[in-house]
Amino acid sequence: MTSSEDLHKRRVAAVARGVGSTIASYVDHAAGGTLTDLEGREWIDFASGIAVTTVGNAAPRVVAAVREQVERFTHTCFMVAPYESYVSVCEQLITLTPGGFEKRAALFNSGAEAVENAVKIARHATGRPAVVVFDHAYHGRTNLTMALTAKNMPYKHRFGPFAPEVYRAPMSYPLRDGGLDGAEAARKAIDVIEKQVGAGNVAAVLIEPIQGEGGFVVPAPGFLPAIAAWTAEAGAVFIADEIQTGFCRTGQWFASEHEGLEPDLITTAKGMGGGLPIAGVVGRAELMDAVHVGGLGGTYGGNPVACAAALAAIETMRELDLAASARHIEAKLKAALSDISDDGIAEIRGRGAMIAIELVQPGTIEPDPVRTAAVSKACHEAGLLTLTCGTYGNVLRFLPPLVISDEDLDRGVAILRAALR
Ligand SMILES: *Cc1c(COP(=O)(O)O)cnc(C)c1O
Repeated sequence: MTSSEDLHKRRVAAVARGVGSTIASYVDHAAGGTLTDLEGREWIDFASGIAVTTVGNAAPRVVAAVREQVERFTHTCFMVAPYESYVSVCEQLITLTPGGFEKRAALFNSGAEAVENAVKIARHATGRPAVVVFDHAYHGRTNLTMALTAKNMPYKHRFGPFAPEVYRAPMSYPLRDGGLDGAEAARKAIDVIEKQVGAGNVAAVLIEPIQGEGGFVVPAPGFLPAIAAWTAEAGAVFIADEIQTGFCRTGQWFASEHEGLEPDLITTAKGMGGGLPIAGVVGRAELMDAVHVGGLGGTYGGNPVACAAALAAIETMRELDLAASARHIEAKLKAALSDISDDGIAEIRGRGAMIAIELVQPGTIEPDPVRTAAVSKACHEAGLLTLTCGTYGNVLRFLPPLVISDEDLDRGVAILRAALR
């Protein structure tokens, strides 16, 4: 039988070095809260393939729906010969996202592609060029989304030149912006936009309601509503990038709901497809329908197998009430971590099953990426799959599948606590 070690040798000879992996073990199979490698070693999964396997890996409904669809047809291209499941996924996006207004949706293959299309739609509908994004933002790795993403290494370094008409405003980051409240932080951001861009030039303001790769940054209450209100007044499009936060991850169907936001457009991907690649843009009908026929699409966007998986994943979320599971995971993780006395922990934050620990040099807010990498490595060695993130690489983040058992969650926390020591 092939071993992880052998496979790693083949990988180094065949796979481009630029594509990294968190661990060097190779997966044999996976379930609700665990991965098992080729050696039969079990990993508790606090990564969910980067917030994708919300309903678990190989979730029964998803497996059945994919099997059934793959036997009927695998691809026709919705732009050539349409099919029901694409329409059904759009209906679900319209029903599940916040906003009582009339909506339309369109499907794509990846998060970056959804973000690109949301920007296309906003520019087309407004006839304006500028897109405002925020410090620490992550929106993808294509040329436009690299421009929208904040962090140079590893995402942008030597990959320029980047798309123009992208402007960056300061983010509300309570630990690192001097503790500005939401209204003050919004004023600061709006000041930058008004002075450096000009309200009348702004097509869209694009923001993650809780930042993902940027460090699970939860803005101060009131920041997002103030930015959304300014955007509406400016006649621009407020786009919530819910690719990581959407589909129950933060304890609501969409994180925008925590602050009563009704974004003009929402981008979704990751958790929505039960592991299959699918993404969407959903929002105001007058914006979505502003684009001429044929202006949106792609060969594989809303592939029928991926649509079948998404419908089954959504049904699973609804039937198992996975938003409630996310709130349960939040309560359990926060309680289990709250009594750690460690002056290198600056903050434990996040919502639902999107929880992070930010590590600093004791007594300061100087980031400690070295310890963060060491803790993460210790977790991996002890069989817990965790990820790091943050502009300064000093945030440990936990994204378990929402179907993880209490027992696996407890085992994971015990490993984490030991690794921190
Ligand atoms: C992952 C992510 C993206 C990019 O999605 P891909 O499917 O990797 O292209 C965009 N925005 C946010 C907030 C993300 O977390």
